[in-house]
Amino acid sequence: MLKVYNTLTRQKEDFVPLKENVVRIYVCGPTVYDYPHIGNARSFSVFDTIRRYLEYLGYRVQYIVNFTDIDDKMINRANEEGISVGDLATKFIAEYRLIAKQLNLKPATINPRATEHIDDIIEMVELIVKNGKGYAVDGDVYFDVSEWDKYGVLSKINLDDDSTIARVEADDKKQDPRDFALWKGEKPGEPSWDSPWGKGRPGWHAECSVMGKHYLGLPFDIHGGGQDLIFPHHENEIAQSSAAYGIDTPVKYWLHNGFLTINSEKMSKSEQNFSTAREVLDNYDHQAVRLYLVSGQYGQPLDYNDGALKQAIQTLERIRNAVDTIKGRITILERTGSRESDADKRLAEASKKVRNGFEAAMNDDFNTPGALAEIFTFIREINTHTKDVGGAAVLRESISVLSELIGILGIDIESQDTNEESASSETLKGIVEYLLELREDARKTKNFALADQIRDRLGQLGIVVSDTKDGPTWKI
Ligand code: AMP
Ligand code: ZN
Repeated sequence: MLKVYNTLTRQKEDFVPLKENVVRIYVCGPTVYDYPHIGNARSFSVFDTIRRYLEYLGYRVQYIVNFTDIDDKMINRANEEGISVGDLATKFIAEYRLIAKQLNLKPATINPRATEHIDDIIEMVELIVKNGKGYAVDGDVYFDVSEWDKYGVLSKINLDDDSTIARVEADDKKQDPRDFALWKGEKPGEPSWDSPWGKGRPGWHAECSVMGKHYLGLPFDIHGGGQDLIFPHHENEIAQSSAAYGIDTPVKYWLHNGFLTINSEKMSKSEQNFSTAREVLDNYDHQAVRLYLVSGQYGQPLDYNDGALKQAIQTLERIRNAVDTIKGRITILERTGSRESDADKRLAEASKKVRNGFEAAMNDDFNTPGALAEIFTFIREINTHTKDVGGAAVLRESISVLSELIGILGIDIESQDTNEESASSETLKGIVEYLLELREDARKTKNFALADQIRDRLGQLGIVVSDTKDGPTWKI
């Protein structure tokens, strides 16, 4: 039976979905204001593996990952770049989708955007105010934390502790420093929407309560995100759902991924200690990056360093070599014909054992390192027996088991696509960059006709060249 660690109870619990056979999951997705870092990519990848494992167990999974496309970071960055918040969101949603493809994340059932749900958010805030749990001041609306006696139920936070309050946005209009914004009145230069409190925009926590309810209904089974979201984001979601809809437990299981760390520090934009997912994916085999991101148990920290990625590359190579060995043996047997042997029995046995071992590890709160260890034991068996195996059927079965199990971790061993694709994208990158160098040379020698021709021809092929102060950039 699957057991999951529930942040709400701080215990490993039996996983029993609220509706038979269906699992409803909401994961807090990216704020689309910048290139995601590789820590964000860890969060995306571990929840994709959790979703895949639940599907493997036979559940129909509804999987919602939102895009936060309006908040302070979005507004500040759009102003810095001199573009609209909408254009900024479009740019980084496209970037997320590219990363998602390269990390082999299964498309979500839906990726709703906060700005598509402004009416629903206003409706929830109105309910909270109507129920006496929120108050409006000068166009802002705040949640009155003193009205919710279970505040802290998820984070177990001590609200009398000053350091806790320091993490809540300071604001003179609040009745109590612990209160949080449900709706923020318009400031000059900010996007805004009409509301009963005047023009404004939603507070961040409101969107996830609303979209979770809209797409999954309350209560639903699993809410995921990084550990940084436990307080205040998820704590506030529970408070909102209780105050607006009278549902004190809007989510049955709260799952939080551990941080990707550098020198034991959380990777984050504010600490300036990050590598973007793009940089890492451009420099390493995509499947190896994915393998690395799920190589630790999801709730534990995972250290980011060159050695860890190199190890993932070696691991992947071992898996690919095993598959090649089996395929080579199948080809020989197809020529020479089958003759069953003792090695067949041993490999058939190992195929069963790896499945059981893999399931036992994953049933223990998605213990991916344990699951990988089982896969390695299986690979050792393959390497020991393959040359003596006489039947193609048992070999086909072993390849199919291996690819099914490793597929849950997001590794598609049967497909060469990722490699071919990355090889061809590397080639494309090289060609475009060479053409841009020629264009720069042409401009230096004042051959503007040639420079323009290069840009136009690339444009006809769908490659847009932009000249920035740091030189030309391009995108497809
Ligand atoms: P954001 O775009 O900042 O809203 O973050 C997207 C997701 O990445 C959230 O679930 C965060 O909790 C998660 N996250 C942020 N930093 C890290 C990190 N260093 N390691 C793992 N997950 C992270
Ligand atoms: Zn959220």
